[in-house]
Amino acid sequence: MALKRITAQDLYNYTKCLHRVFLDSNGNPSEKSEVSSFVKLLWEVGLQTERDYISSLGDQEITDLQHLAVEPAFQETLSAMERGSPIIYQGCLIHEHFVGRPDLLVKREDSSSRLGPFLYEPIDIKAGRGWEESESKKRKFKEHYAFQILFYRFLLEKIQGTVSPGGRIINVDKEIEEFDPVPFEERFAQAMQEVQRLVSGDVSSEPVLGSHCTMCGWFTRCYRWVKAEADPTGLFFVGKQKFAMKEVGLRTIADIAAMEVDDYLAPPLKIPRMGKKSLDRMKERAQVALEGKPVIRPGYTFPKVEREIYFDIEDDPTRGVVYLFGYVICEPDRSARYEYFWAKQPEDEERTVRAFWTFLQSCGNVVFYVYSHKERTTLKQLMERYGLDSDTFESYRVKEYDLYQQLVVDYSDWPTFSYGIKHIAKWIGFQWRDLDPSGANSIAWYNDYLNDPGNPSLMQRILDYNEDDCYAMLAIKQHFERYRSEVQAAIDRGPQDDI
Ligand code: SF4
Repeated sequence: MALKRITAQDLYNYTKCLHRVFLDSNGNPSEKSEVSSFVKLLWEVGLQTERDYISSLGDQEITDLQHLAVEPAFQETLSAMERGSPIIYQGCLIHEHFVGRPDLLVKREDSSSRLGPFLYEPIDIKAGRGWEESESKKRKFKEHYAFQILFYRFLLEKIQGTVSPGGRIINVDKEIEEFDPVPFEERFAQAMQEVQRLVSGDVSSEPVLGSHCTMCGWFTRCYRWVKAEADPTGLFFVGKQKFAMKEVGLRTIADIAAMEVDDYLAPPLKIPRMGKKSLDRMKERAQVALEGKPVIRPGYTFPKVEREIYFDIEDDPTRGVVYLFGYVICEPDRSARYEYFWAKQPEDEERTVRAFWTFLQSCGNVVFYVYSHKERTTLKQLMERYGLDSDTFESYRVKEYDLYQQLVVDYSDWPTFSYGIKHIAKWIGFQWRDLDPSGANSIAWYNDYLNDPGNPSLMQRILDYNEDDCYAMLAIKQHFERYRSEVQAAIDRGPQDDI
């Protein structure tokens, strides 16, 4: 039987989820959902970035093979390489069952190869940047970009007998970014072996449920599996750690709920990187999941101010633009109201953020409720981009209250694998007007709006979604306030009463 093909996409997926590599080659396609509009948008943005770059090359000679299927593209690529074509766009490289289509194969005359006094170098055109700040603030090159280039280098070496020393991509700003492939080689070799086992179906790995899954076509299937198996990733914050937990016998949520934490703090049951605090919390979450009822712990407080602002930003990372600053204002003796600052076009971002800065300066003694660190991070980036007043940002920062971290994560547990706003707010009965609300969809809707700005319903859909996000935060805060009042009332009533 012919071996199943392995592509650069498999290597990319490997860096995100091993089980996805298995399912893409071995899963039942009828269990895979249709690609979301956001993923389609990402594809379109990727293609447009390539087209823009290719047209920026002017009248340079390019062999364009984008419309050819794999086999004819491979034959044409070999011919173009043999005759020394300067640039090959969407060529095809095949060795055994490995198939790669690098965006560009660029001829270099500073080395020779089996082809003659030149060789080809693979370069991908990306709609993002390769170098990024890691959590330790050390710059590092994205592994999924590097793996794709290393895959093409592996194929090119088979064809031309050698490869050039460095790795390169062209980033979203049409700049060349270079990286050293050597530090990636060992993990890449492991990845190639594991990908082959996963694609062939020799191993399957297991779903690791997490926030990354919501954009994956296999989500419904994996969610069902996690529920049926009572898999530990049905708990918030377990992730890949579940493999180490399963090795010491914590195979299900019930195992975790029943564990004696002290037994897992020293060999032979010690779980790497998990101390008593993490295990205690994990056990509590498992008990909450089995009970099917959230638990709220005492100790949280809210700032005592007259004006509360529930604030949510919408941005489009595919265009690098922040297009909406929406908020709900609550103050005494007035109904809560929604207001917003909106960038009608990406070019309006600066004008919009400057207007929002003026609004921030007028806010006085308020609290800004948000549901992630994103608002703070985004405002800081915008301040740096446009040279905005830093005192205004600092004043905002000290008035910000992150309901996700400072309230939900720190003071409660929920029988759901994610503590994202959609999961928590829906649990307490809040409903979005849109049937398919998500930040990713909002980005897709913004792009629909930009293509058809005269259509008022497209803009309204985004505003409604953003407004509902703000009211969802308000609902969560009120839920915790109510709970605290009920507990206090029970304490005041005395020991004979239960709540
Ligand atoms: S839904 Fe999640 S666990 Fe399942 S294949 Fe996709 S990314 Fe992997």
